[in-house]
Amino acid sequence: MLVDLFKKVKKRMSDIPMPEAKTSVNIPSNLLFKCPRCQNIIFEEEFERELKICPKCGYHARITAKERLALTADEGSFKEYDANLYTLNPIDFPGYSDKIAALKKKTGLEEAVITGECTIDGQNTVIGIMDSHFMMASMGSVVGEKITRAFERATEKRLPVVLFTASGGARMQEGIVSLMQMAKTSGAVARHSDAGLLYITVMTDPTTGGVTASFASLGDIIIAEPKALIGFAGRRVIEGTIKQHLPDDFQSAEFLLEHGFVDMIVNRRDMKHVLGKLLKYHSGEVCADE
Ligand SMILES: [Zn+2]
Repeated sequence: MLVDLFKKVKKRMSDIPMPEAKTSVNIPSNLLFKCPRCQNIIFEEEFERELKICPKCGYHARITAKERLALTADEGSFKEYDANLYTLNPIDFPGYSDKIAALKKKTGLEEAVITGECTIDGQNTVIGIMDSHFMMASMGSVVGEKITRAFERATEKRLPVVLFTASGGARMQEGIVSLMQMAKTSGAVARHSDAGLLYITVMTDPTTGGVTASFASLGDIIIAEPKALIGFAGRRVIEGTIKQHLPDDFQSAEFLLEHGFVDMIVNRRDMKHVLGKLLKYHSGEVCADE
């Protein structure tokens, strides 16, 4: 009987003509940005001006490698390395080649990292920037190879390395070949370090999996962007394994700073200046102004 009553009410509800969705201000949604953290809505133009940082809660949205390069390198100073290295399908994973082809078209990138040489506030450095828009910047053979070569060139030229990391981890579509990149990149970082050269990691949202477990965590100085997600395995996997509840913020940049894994958290607006200063301190130049 109660069921019948609900049915009747439901029928009556559906008989009521629903007013059409009101769009009092007709703004195309692509002109607006809605912050996923605080739900604040701002004009895309203003958001761009704010370097894609939410003015209300400070959320640092993910940006492309090209945008990051423009914010970091001195204008016109960037010379790209290995722009023509492209990905094959080493274990014949179904659909992988098509996926890569579609992503190349969509992002205008050959792979999930760009590497090269530039100056930052006048300081020569090798730079690498990972782009989460390309297959969540997972590390396959080309990503690993480009990073390894960047370190090898930096060692040869006696230059520091600044590496912006972002990644979902090793690229499963390349199986064991992707896992091998962890050892390969770490070896190149070690040789760069043995030569007495500086390596600065900037962990951006998200830096996880095999990238955290290899070159991302090997920086002499580890910087993170505010609120960046940094971790190895996901929360559910860890909680399921250790049968314990984890703190809410346990994989945030702030938590890791507190526990000594990250050395400093730097706002995107100050990043170039801070990197320039650190590079200068380690270049042997006298910093009279500090
Ligand atoms: Zn926000």
